[in-house]
Amino acid sequence: MDPTHSSLEHHPMRELIRLSKSTLDQTDKSAVASVLDNEYLGMGNEVNLFEKKLANYFGRPVVCVSNGTAALHLALQACGIGPGDEVLVQSLTYVASFQAISATGAIPIPCDILQDTYTIDCRDAENRLTTRTKAIMPVHYSGGVGNLDEIYNFAMLHNLRVIEDAAHAFGTTYGNKKVGSFGDISCFSFDGIKNITSGEGGCLVSEDEEIVDCVRNSRLLGVVNDTVSRYNSKRSWDFEVEQQGWRYHMSNIMAALGKSQFQRLDEISLKRQELAIYYDKIFKSIPNVAIINHDYTKVVPHIYPIRLKGITNRETLRKRLLTKGIETGVHYKPNHHLKYYHNSSSTPLHVTDCVYKELLSLPLHLDLDFNDISYITDSLLEEFVY
Ligand SMILES: *Cc1c(COP(=O)(O)O)cnc(C)c1O
Repeated sequence: MDPTHSSLEHHPMRELIRLSKSTLDQTDKSAVASVLDNEYLGMGNEVNLFEKKLANYFGRPVVCVSNGTAALHLALQACGIGPGDEVLVQSLTYVASFQAISATGAIPIPCDILQDTYTIDCRDAENRLTTRTKAIMPVHYSGGVGNLDEIYNFAMLHNLRVIEDAAHAFGTTYGNKKVGSFGDISCFSFDGIKNITSGEGGCLVSEDEEIVDCVRNSRLLGVVNDTVSRYNSKRSWDFEVEQQGWRYHMSNIMAALGKSQFQRLDEISLKRQELAIYYDKIFKSIPNVAIINHDYTKVVPHIYPIRLKGITNRETLRKRLLTKGIETGVHYKPNHHLKYYHNSSSTPLHVTDCVYKELLSLPLHLDLDFNDISYITDSLLEEFVY
């Protein structure tokens, strides 16, 4: 036995229920295998075809990149954001949002969240505006977009670009519109555990041709029009470079998987929604457990976070759940608590700090069924006395 395993860790009486995982079917695997058979692995026609499918879905131009963080980074760079600039972003997000901002040399300004949706609180953001503020990055936490209209009004009023971190929200609709089909710039992640995956990967969607053109080049080391060459299975030899670029493009292997997963979007979305609805039904009658009240006819959930009101020993609870074969998570440690992003002179983020203490994410992925959910919630409620 691995000596680092304590007695509180999972014993294999029943298979560990993972917090999240990729779930691939035979079509996904065949799609990847066919690229391997073709032996054109890098960026070529598969990426072109995946982008076309996505552009058709969103009704706007799409650029595929190596991951969601790269999409955010290139979006910010294309907006001209750099050293000396500030970007408003909720502290309760994956560190990827913050790293993408600081990668440009700009400063991420951690903002507080709303109690009910865990999305950015515009009133708090307003207090953090300076003459250096250039953009706001709303994070579609767990798949919901909060009050996105208010965010866009706020941005308009203060002349800010809006870069949506939509990593959690592929498939979600707002009003009757798909997230990504409207607004300024939307960035998605196709990481292995996101709503759909290309095994790492991401994309940027925007109506702004200048942004899209800029990102098409910046993902390929800034080589102008290299995208066109590669989609024709060629390379550029006599080329021009006009900006700082990065090695952030997508490969044919990734795109083939992405295309196949995208084909399954309805099936995948429905399953995630059904599982979340089942959790919701159970927790609605438990006063000490707060859920995010998503409308799952519109939201496709990436994670299932709950708030355990008044809990003081979350880590003990997590360990006990692990002994019952249930892996849990905490989305996320707020970024203003991280050394690299901590600023002792900024005003406190009360809601973020309160919510963080009580947050717990329960398993959500396609291999779960309602029996698993019942087992998870029964086990949780046995441990969490209310
Ligand atoms: C996953 C994620 C990202 C980044 O996506 P990667 O593909 O992992 O780089 C950004 N923001 C949030 C909130 C995420 O969950």
